[in-house]
Amino acid sequence: MGAGAMGSLFGGLLTLSGEEVWLVDIWKDHINAVRSKGLTIEDRGKTQTIRVNATADVTSVGKADLVLIFVKSYHTEKAVLDARVLRKKDTVFLSLQNGLGNEEAICKQVDQSKVILGVTNHGATLLAPGQIRHAGWGKTSIGELDGKITDRVNQMVQMFLKAGIETEVSLHIHNLVWEKLLINVGINALTALTGLKNGQLLDFPETLRLMESLVSEAVEVAQRKGIRMEGNPIEKVKTIAEVTRENRSSMGQDFDHRRRTEIDAINGAVAREAERLGISVPFNQAITDLVKVIEKSFGPMGS
Ligand code: NAD
Repeated sequence: MGAGAMGSLFGGLLTLSGEEVWLVDIWKDHINAVRSKGLTIEDRGKTQTIRVNATADVTSVGKADLVLIFVKSYHTEKAVLDARVLRKKDTVFLSLQNGLGNEEAICKQVDQSKVILGVTNHGATLLAPGQIRHAGWGKTSIGELDGKITDRVNQMVQMFLKAGIETEVSLHIHNLVWEKLLINVGINALTALTGLKNGQLLDFPETLRLMESLVSEAVEVAQRKGIRMEGNPIEKVKTIAEVTRENRSSMGQDFDHRRRTEIDAINGAVAREAERLGISVPFNQAITDLVKVIEKSFGPMGS
């Protein structure tokens, strides 16, 4: 559900490995292009075109063993509501989306015993309808919400491995979701507002100071929630900014194209969690407000 950059990447790779996959997306131009010409994936200079099932009508798919949710966080609840027609007794809903709040949104629509969470370090970009670029590689981790190792999570790992997607089971998936969140908290909104590339945030004392403040506020919230993180989170964010020096973050790209961002699931989510805990996070609140005001100048946004 949601066959944009990431949904198409995972759907394409799983199709190549022999799984029966359906890309479901409300973006008709993309679906029509995939149906008529196939899905083209550009990967490190090589291009391949894959025949993949694709539809804009989720009711035409039938029942699914696995529903992989790859919409932007602000569309999660609606997409899962639409995807309920895919359910049978043992259907699993997996989110590899960024940010906080997707789990809650999914669990509003389907029983939480059916939900598995994950994080992925793969990256992808939409080039045109029917065309994506595989832009980042890395590990994917998935885990049951209660941390148990189950047959279904092991089966999913095997399925991803067969598709060439390096994946492991995590016993503490919420910790990993927060670890990835902290990276996005420190990089995304700052690059959006400044127009800088990820690595350039390290080149100015001002952005470095802001990054440290945003991340340390989020770390405090995480610690109060009992989230455990390995290593020094601020240093990790700086390392990722350096390693991805030439990249423009997804929120930066959203701003460049005057699109709605996932701010509510990133710095906005930190501010919301902090409020629940009675902690003040002025940097995250301020940056959320700034991003939201600028988004409003882009004109009407989808809900
Ligand atoms: P995207 O905008 O390219 O794709 C999202 C797709 O969802 C769009 O094509 C949209 O039409 C579709 N959609 C919206 N509502 C729908 C509905 N009700 N039913 C079906 N489709 C619907 O986004 P993306 O870059 O692929 O990101 C998806 C998620 O993965 C985000 O949470 C993002 O943070 C996360 N993520 C992205 C990357 C990346 O490199 N792009 C990497 C890791 C994680």
